[in-house]
Parts: sequence; structure tokens; C-alpha cells
Amino acid sequence: MCPICKNNLNVIKRGFYRRPSDNKKIQRFLCKHCKKGFSQQTFAIDYRQQKRWFNQSCFLTLCSGVSQRRASYIFNVVPRTIARRVRKFGEICEKNLCKYRETRNKANDVEFDEMESFIHTKLKPVTIPIAVEKKTRKVLALSIGNIGAKGLLKQLSIQKYGKRPSERLSSLKNMTQSLKTCVSPTARFSSDKCPLYPKLIRDNFPQASHTTCKGARGAIVGLGELKKTVFDPIFTLNHTYAMFRDNLKTLSRRTWATAKRKDRLLLLLYIYAWFHNLWLDRKQQKPKLEIFVT
Ligand SMILES: [Zn+2]
Repeated sequence: MCPICKNNLNVIKRGFYRRPSDNKKIQRFLCKHCKKGFSQQTFAIDYRQQKRWFNQSCFLTLCSGVSQRRASYIFNVVPRTIARRVRKFGEICEKNLCKYRETRNKANDVEFDEMESFIHTKLKPVTIPIAVEKKTRKVLALSIGNIGAKGLLKQLSIQKYGKRPSERLSSLKNMTQSLKTCVSPTARFSSDKCPLYPKLIRDNFPQASHTTCKGARGAIVGLGELKKTVFDPIFTLNHTYAMFRDNLKTLSRRTWATAKRKDRLLLLLYIYAWFHNLWLDRKQQKPKLEIFVT
């Protein structure tokens, strides 16, 4: 398919070129419709990359609790290279997740909640709503939004960075919007007892049922997702959150490796979410970053 005019017909082969970095033969094409040329590389994940040999291991490393700086040390590349890969991988994983939602069968049991993290300092917290399918633990949708600091940090945060408009509702709406393609209209939702949630579900899934429970995470003061309680009604979700925290360095608690930009953190979240979904299918294949097709 022509990447410029999206035309499927009138595309002909037009010779080869040898890629200098690894001497591989690449097929060139010509679109007779718009007279533009492209090659099989145009669609590849390593398009315009020099160091294509470490793409897969970089993907696995970034999803295994390694910071970007340490990844650049492991692979002997400059940090900028890793940062570029994060951007590239993030965009691919975002599209993959979107396509996955459109092509999978409809989910009937969905758990959702918000996780809190921060950008650069605890004075700039963000909320990360995530929805997972109960049975398979697969991540269906996620989003991110700024929120105001709470408690003792509130005053200091306003003093230092001004008032932060809360994007909590809009990020939650974002997440539920994207759920529409992959969740059946009569699905069962479960979440904790946040007053924002019932209206959100009613507006987007009027026929769905929604059960709220006092989440184990909020039940006792302690270790967040990893607390031990007798029975956790939204276990799948908290388990997934714990995995996000464990495997994404920027989300770990008490870490030096803080996220510096909200949009980049979102990309990392997409990368991990896609890795997580592949990892759950690991019996079929080890997680491998590819452009998702069904
Ligand atoms: Zn064309």
C-alpha cells in the first residue's frame, strides 16, 4: 500500500537497494498514482535506524525494570538513542493496543481504577487510569492526566508550580471512550468506591452493570498494591498495577528514575501495556515488538 496516497492499486516494484548498515537487500516500490517511491523498509519498525540489532532486547529491557540510562549503558549506545526508541516503540505500541481493541472479541468482565505517580517531583502528581479484563488480566485501555497534590504537599506545590488544573475526569473519560470498541455494552464493571465512577459508566455504557467495592488497596494503610488482605475484589487490577510498578522503572516507589515528561511517561505505559499483553501469551511466543496485524 502506498504510504502517501494510501492507494493499494498501481503500486509496482522498482528495483532494490543495499542497506549500508547490514548489507541487506531492500525492495523498492513506486506508486504510479502519485509518482512517489517507497520501500519495504518504510513500514518496518527499524525504518531509518542505524542500530537495529538491539531493538528487541531494548524492548524487553525497558519492560524489565531497567532505567533508560542503564539501558544505554548495557547496550553501549548514547542515552539519546534509547530516548528515541522509547518514542518509536511507544507510538507502535499505542497503535497496536488500539488495533488489538478493535479486533479482539468483546470483554465481559472489566476492572478499572487509577494509579498515582508523579512527573519529576511528588509536587506534580499524575493519575493513571487503567482498565483490565478480569479473566485474562490483559490491559484494555489506559490514560494519564495531571492532578493536584494532596495533603501536606498541596501548599508547597501551589507555591512552587502554581495551581495544577486537574485532568482526572478527562483522562478517565479518555479511557472509557477507548473501551467502547472492545467491551460489550452489557459488560460487568468493577471498581473501588470513587464517586466519579458510576456516572462515567452510566454515560458510556448505559446497559452495563457496575459493582463498587472497598478496594483492598485503600482498606489499610500500608504498601499500596502489595498489601496482603483476606480477599481483594479487584485483585486482577491491583496485580496488574503491581506489575506496572515493578517493571517500569519510572513507576517504582522510591526511585531515582523519575519521569520527566507526561507524554513520554504515557509512551512508556503503552510499551509496558503491550509487553504485558504479549507476556501473558508467552507460551505461544516470547514477547516480540512487531506491528500488530491479525
Ligand atoms: Zn501513492
